[in-house]
Amino acid sequence: MKQFDTKYIAVDREICKACWKCFENCAQQVFGKINILGLHKHIYVKNPDNCVGCKKCVKLCENGAITEVA
Ligand code: SF4
Ligand code: SF4
Repeated sequence: MKQFDTKYIAVDREICKACWKCFENCAQQVFGKINILGLHKHIYVKNPDNCVGCKKCVKLCENGAITEVA
C-alpha cells in the first residue's frame, strides 16, 4: 500500500505530472517515485515520518498536486 500523505501535506497522484521537483527538493527525502514502464508515473510519500512540515513542496509544485493538511 503506497502512502500519499504526511502529518502536514497530501499528494494527489492524479494531478501529479511527475516533474520530480518535490522529490529533488525535499531535504528530508519524504518522496519516492513510481515509474512503471512510463505508464504509471507519479510521486508518492515514501517516508512520511521524515516530514517536518516546511511546506516547500507545496510551493514548488506548479500543478497544485501537493496541499497542506496541517
Ligand atoms: S512537484 Fe508536483 S507534479 Fe512534480 S512530481 Fe511533485 S507532486 Fe508531481
Ligand atoms: S513539507 Fe517539507 S519536509 Fe514535508 S514533504 Fe514537503 S518539502 Fe518535504
